Amino acid sequence: MAKRDYYEILGVSKDASKEDIKKAYRKLAVQNHPDRNPNDSEAETRFKEATEAYEVLSDPKKRQAYDQYGFAGVEGMGGGQHDYSSVFRDFSDIFGNDFGGFSSIFESFFGGGQSRSSGGSRGTFRGASLQYNVEIDFKEAVFGTKVDVSYTRNVSCETCSGTGASKGSGRRSCGTCGGTGQVRRSSGFFSIASTCPTCGGEGTIVESPCGDCKGHGVMKKRQKLKVTIPAGIESGKRISIPGQGEAGPNSGPAGDLLVYVSVRPHQYFERNGNDLYCMIPITVTQASLGTEISVETIDGDRVKLKVPSGVQNGKVLRIKGRGVPFVHNSDRRGDMYIKLRVDTPKKMSSKAKALMRELSDVIGEENHPKPVPLSEV
Ligand SMILES: [Zn+2]
Ligand SMILES: [Zn+2]
Repeated sequence: MAKRDYYEILGVSKDASKEDIKKAYRKLAVQNHPDRNPNDSEAETRFKEATEAYEVLSDPKKRQAYDQYGFAGVEGMGGGQHDYSSVFRDFSDIFGNDFGGFSSIFESFFGGGQSRSSGGSRGTFRGASLQYNVEIDFKEAVFGTKVDVSYTRNVSCETCSGTGASKGSGRRSCGTCGGTGQVRRSSGFFSIASTCPTCGGEGTIVESPCGDCKGHGVMKKRQKLKVTIPAGIESGKRISIPGQGEAGPNSGPAGDLLVYVSVRPHQYFERNGNDLYCMIPITVTQASLGTEISVETIDGDRVKLKVPSGVQNGKVLRIKGRGVPFVHNSDRRGDMYIKLRVDTPKKMSSKAKALMRELSDVIGEENHPKPVPLSEV
């Protein structure tokens, strides 16, 4: 099988910075995480490819050799057997704390490094986060709301407290992997120790599985929550609710529920940061003579505004403090802006036309518009 170029695998350019390479690798590794893609050999291959590419491109010496001589340049450097120790060293740096279970999955994939001790300690890892999308009205986003969220998540089995074993039964060493949690197989380019399919890498299996969760230690549960959406939230923002995601393996802490909020547009209002914008049309006569308009605010009440005589099309009026509340300080609000549009009458009676002609004669030369540069418009 022809090997793909390391830069191509990571989707970065030849002059990518160390940081870019790390970012690209993190993304690919998380996407193709074996836990998220069980029995998906393509994801597994992508995961391995990306790791191999990262291992070379993150090391300045190896990268230089690869740039100069291609695969041949780095073949000898790891001494035939690939050395992933540099990747292990970077691990917490790359994945932070939000991927607690990752390094051990990684180890089981590649062996070496800080290999799991024989007999397999049953590690507790944080569960995965779940994503939930909600759509709310414009006004709900401005003033905040509560939404009912209903979803299915894995929770720790109550019957066996997440151990997967039925009452009184213990665990015994796994026969498939002999308690190591790994099975080795050759995959052409390098030999890989992969997670034992029988015990899931734990090295032990329950003697008598819990009847309620079939030995998994977790079970699906329908979850209902009332989620508070704060006033002032913007479309696309997310609210994270700790501990409401998937239960962690072996009674590990649960992940978070991430609620992504999208906001439906309003018929009249548009939002820019914490300010609200709307448009009010007025007639030529109102604009010429001045008038008083009454505008509805987002609060639902009406505010009277004076429009001065001789106002021009596009003039913007402001009502202070009638915009969107600030998320972290709801006492503070943005402003409301009203843009005036002067509408020319479309249907005029012959009397109206006659009056308009008379008006045209009376208002005189000084009211005739003069050309202005486009920059002043
Ligand atoms: Zn159970
Ligand atoms: Zn096993």
